[in-house]
Amino acid sequence: MSKYILALDQGTSSSRAILFDRAGAPVAQSALEFPQIYPQPGWVSHDPEAIWSSQIASARRVLAETGATADDVVAIGITNQRETTVVWDRATGLAIDDAIVWQCRRTAAICEDLRSRGLDAEVRSRTGLLIDAYFSGTKVRWLLDQDPERQRRAEAGELAFGTVDSWLIHKLTGGRAHVIDATNASRTMLYNVRDGAWDERMLAELRIPASMLPQVVDSSGIVAETDPEVFGRAIPIAGIAGDQQAALFGQGCWDAGAIKNTYGTGCFILQHTGDRPVFSENGLLTTIASRIGGVPQFAVEGSIFIAGAAIQWLRDGLGIIKTAAESEALAASVPSSDGVYVVPAFAGLGAPHWDMYARGTIAGITRGTTAAHIARATLEAIALQTLDVVDLMERETGVRMTELRVDGGAVGNDLLMQIQADVLQRPVVRSKTAETTALGAAYLAGLATGFWTGRDEIARIWRSGGRFEPSMPASQRDALVAGWQKAVGRAKGWAS
Ligand code: ADP
Repeated sequence: MSKYILALDQGTSSSRAILFDRAGAPVAQSALEFPQIYPQPGWVSHDPEAIWSSQIASARRVLAETGATADDVVAIGITNQRETTVVWDRATGLAIDDAIVWQCRRTAAICEDLRSRGLDAEVRSRTGLLIDAYFSGTKVRWLLDQDPERQRRAEAGELAFGTVDSWLIHKLTGGRAHVIDATNASRTMLYNVRDGAWDERMLAELRIPASMLPQVVDSSGIVAETDPEVFGRAIPIAGIAGDQQAALFGQGCWDAGAIKNTYGTGCFILQHTGDRPVFSENGLLTTIASRIGGVPQFAVEGSIFIAGAAIQWLRDGLGIIKTAAESEALAASVPSSDGVYVVPAFAGLGAPHWDMYARGTIAGITRGTTAAHIARATLEAIALQTLDVVDLMERETGVRMTELRVDGGAVGNDLLMQIQADVLQRPVVRSKTAETTALGAAYLAGLATGFWTGRDEIARIWRSGGRFEPSMPASQRDALVAGWQKAVGRAKGWAS
């Protein structure tokens, strides 16, 4: 009997592979970095062949380390950096240019042009997104703009577009499959989330021929088999989701209301909204959480620009800690932040404040303020920014969250997790598996192939790595939140 699901987690800086057993536990993992390419300030590219070679090498390595063969793998689940755009030649199977990475700002002028044509509201109501260089649509336009021959070839059906899931599946299947899962499609700015189909208006506005587009497939379901050459035997590819959606699934957030937060450099917060897309008035994105059996589930997404990055600033900018983990002991050395607030608006503020002129502020300093108060106030700021986004989500979706599921590099900080539970006044539950993104992709693939019998079984095997119950008295919590709002007010508009 086959023993494992192989999850491929193609991230922005590394390509990871993890084998999960029937208990949903990671048995072995491997990660290989690949080069970042910065052609100009603000531009980021990846070599598509480097994405592929690092991904396949990490997959082979994890099998070799475990002594496993393709026979031991029931199915492959794929999760990936979202929005990153690859265009390849259908005849040769080779990319025509480097991939344009999600972070890349090179298409700002194309976005400006869409905005000047009054398309903001159209984009929001059709795609659930905002006009921004992050999303794939303007990146495809840019790639075609580089040579008139490319536009001609695209119109002749000779070129294919895909996100990183599409590209990996193209490679894994020896060029036989040209697909994208619905969660990744919902990040392209070309996909109509209401209709569940490519959006003709957006394609026309961006002059992208429909013949370039991949077939949109389920997030859980056998979409293709690997070419036998790749692993020595064909393996079904049965799960696909963009990284944040995979983490939402891997956290067991499957029903309306459930929220997960990933604490990394910034925070990515997603709330499941069931079978109903919710369109935000305040800058949350509407996205597909998963599509299974042809039925889409939806989520709203908000992000915080600076979270773990504020801890890095304590370390590198202020020099008051030597490692990120030391922030916990330093902050715990004082019982409270004593009225000090750090607002880490280093690059403006996102949801729900949306002020690009906001700048970082430390408010409430007195003669007694120490580095420990600043450290504690910085942890509080991460939790309070999360509270602001969760509050906004609950207001806009009308569904209250019962507990927050958390993952990411900063969740090892127990004090931060306790503060988070205190300000939310709801439990915070940390996943035992740090790699919830890969776990989500594994769940999607395992459910499609009978490796796991259903969600009930997954819910039973899902393991918590710590639960934090709110314990701060309500009056103290309310005072902390009120002070935060006042401090945010001081940070706003600073650079204008
Ligand atoms: P990313 O995927 O964005 O690179 P990670 O998930 O690897 O981020 O998390 C790294 C971030 O978490 C860093 O910004 C770091 O400052 C922060 N971090 C790591 N450990 C801790 C800790 N114990 N306490 C607070 N922040 C931490």
